[in-house]
Amino acid sequence: MMSLEQQLNELTGKMYGKTIAACTDAQLYNSVLQLTKEQMAEKPVITGKKKVYYISMEFLIGKLLSNNLINLGIYEELNQLLAKNGKSLAAIEEAEPEPSLGNGGLGRLAACFLDSIATLGLPGDGIGLNYHFGLFKQVFKERLQKAEKNDWIEDNSWLTDTGTRFEVAFGDRKVTSVLYDIDVIGYENGCNKLHLFDVESVDERLVKKGIDFDKTAIEKNLTLFLYPDDSDEAGNLLRIYQEYFMVSNGAQLIIRELKEKGCDLYHMDEYVAIQINDTHPTMVIPELIRILTWEEGFTIEDAVNVVSRTCAYTNHTILAEALEKWPLAYIEKVVPQLVPIIKELSARVAKKYTDEKVRIIDKDKRVHMAHIDIHYGYSVNGVAAIHTEILKESELNHFYKIYPEKFNNKTNGITFRRWLLSCNRELAAFLTETIGDGYKKNADELEKLLTKKDDAAVLDAIEDIKRQKKEALAAYIQEKEGITLDANSIFDIQVKRLHEYKRQQMNALYIIHKYLEIKDGKKPVRPMTFIFGAKAAPAYVIAQDIIHLLLVLSEIINNDPEVSPYMKLVMVENYNVSYAEKLIPACDISEQISLASKEASGTGNMKFMLNGAVTLGTSDGANVEIHDLVGDENIYIFGEDSDTVIEHYAKADYVSRDYYEKSPVIKEAVDFIVSKKALAVGRKENLERLYKELLNKDWFMTLLDLEDYIAVKDKMFADYEDRDKWKKMMLVNIAKAGFFSSDRTIAEYNRDIWHLN
Ligand SMILES: *Cc1c(COP(=O)(O)O)cnc(C)c1O
Repeated sequence: MMSLEQQLNELTGKMYGKTIAACTDAQLYNSVLQLTKEQMAEKPVITGKKKVYYISMEFLIGKLLSNNLINLGIYEELNQLLAKNGKSLAAIEEAEPEPSLGNGGLGRLAACFLDSIATLGLPGDGIGLNYHFGLFKQVFKERLQKAEKNDWIEDNSWLTDTGTRFEVAFGDRKVTSVLYDIDVIGYENGCNKLHLFDVESVDERLVKKGIDFDKTAIEKNLTLFLYPDDSDEAGNLLRIYQEYFMVSNGAQLIIRELKEKGCDLYHMDEYVAIQINDTHPTMVIPELIRILTWEEGFTIEDAVNVVSRTCAYTNHTILAEALEKWPLAYIEKVVPQLVPIIKELSARVAKKYTDEKVRIIDKDKRVHMAHIDIHYGYSVNGVAAIHTEILKESELNHFYKIYPEKFNNKTNGITFRRWLLSCNRELAAFLTETIGDGYKKNADELEKLLTKKDDAAVLDAIEDIKRQKKEALAAYIQEKEGITLDANSIFDIQVKRLHEYKRQQMNALYIIHKYLEIKDGKKPVRPMTFIFGAKAAPAYVIAQDIIHLLLVLSEIINNDPEVSPYMKLVMVENYNVSYAEKLIPACDISEQISLASKEASGTGNMKFMLNGAVTLGTSDGANVEIHDLVGDENIYIFGEDSDTVIEHYAKADYVSRDYYEKSPVIKEAVDFIVSKKALAVGRKENLERLYKELLNKDWFMTLLDLEDYIAVKDKMFADYEDRDKWKKMMLVNIAKAGFFSSDRTIAEYNRDIWHLN
């Protein structure tokens, strides 16, 4: 057997005619990529009688090198042999482009799930699309977000052309698909696959500037971009073309694999489970029914029955604007072959239930995609305890009454390989030293750390690692954003998609309030650093305005010599998985401040907790479960609860202007948005629009919780000075994070929904 070093040297020789030491980082990246792919190809493919297909429009996988090396168990060896040759693995990783095949949490969840499915040794593949430019790349120009294409596919990449080609027929054209696979390796386990479909005739030259392209040339544009409308329905025909393209390919692949295994299609539910990630892949249900009836001789009755025993649906949101309702006419244009089937499914429902709220096709001839999933799938799950309760008790109550047995909760999770072992090697090494390495496979073992709660050396070490990570982040931000941060300050971080319900605007109002206090002579005991990262859907006007406000505030604060010694504000450009991996380990205060009831789960909250940040949050999504785990003394909860919020919506009695007029503090902060100072730096149009929105509408109730937010956040800053108390909070948060391993989540999916092996 050749040593790893010999293998790599042979590869660099073959690829570049150089030794390891003589290669550039980019050349070494390509060589290490090749080496890793070869090692993964030697791992066994995970097999079993039954397999799950996780079908999703998004897989926000992030860079893969580091993770794959960890899962292969060769990270440390490679790290050392590169160092011996004067090279740095961390620098080589920088050369890897990040595939941005997702918007945010939903896509990142799918990626974490693939890692855990393989790690648990379960047979399960992902099915998605190979977007050439992914989600847009964000750049700031004149304090506004501009979108550019993210050209992530290089000659050498993780993608392998499988040679598989399928035909996909739309109403007005036929296209040929190309299937690329990415190997997914489990931690010390075998391999599954992520199947990404592309169109043979795709043409990147269609994109001239920014992210604009000819929307009509479907066969050329179908897989160029991912729709950027996180938590919103895009409402474009092209999106339906993409969705059908994915499910048609997915259905063909699944049926081909079933036949290769010699399975009886009448019992396909014994061999496959199809997990539908949000409503985007819903058309897989009518598509499978179509294939079984048209091509396999099934009666409609038999086809509906077996498909309904095979498909399971995950709901990710209660936001009405995010629930897909496609006009039947759109579906008629894109995939007329599905229309008779959807009509049949709808007619069956209408015959059985008189309640209009459970209809598939409504009186305006719109197709409610979630309703197809609920009627014709065998499981409906929410993604955190409170979210599932809201689904059962209000949003989907009409369905819950019909099918109580279908509803279940699966609280989201994150893969600890990426969000601890890879992004915080220092903390992982320290944990291993302190409690052994059992936690890597059994995350609950993190609780062993609780026995060290009063061990000063352990507490100091945790504090010290946080400090190192803050220094590393400060250096990175200096290089990338040109802003100098003080690692001695408190790092308060809010990174997530920009959306009004997530309330970045409330955080901005707090910052304005602090700025005004400092100008007034009230200086904080320790400097504060506020960090944001967020992309906004290009068509989401108010979200763009909030980004503008943050960039304006950053300009004002960082350049004010009276204020900047006490406070800095950074909005990082192009927040993505790689940036998250640098930000999260460096965080002191994790901002999870969504309007209660609106954040289905959140997963950023879990990543921060695992890395020793303390949560400042509302009683929303998985924050509620974090609260239950760590107890009142290790988390900062504020704001109205979800029942109260839901009642405000029901009664339509929230009037933001009342809060503004009642509170001088709120008024002062909101008025600052259109003050002379702000307008001297920012654009009148954007700032005035945001100001008016907050005063006249404020649909996500920013002002409802602002005073409480200020009070609790101030308390948190004060508590930070009690270093012993704070270090203990950090320790407890790390120790209790085990529940949020996606290994636990996937074990539950398997136990309750998939029943593999
Ligand atoms: C985890 C993650 C998210 C989700 O964050 P939330 O705070 O749960 O919304 C979004 N984007 C990236 C890049 C992530 O890693």
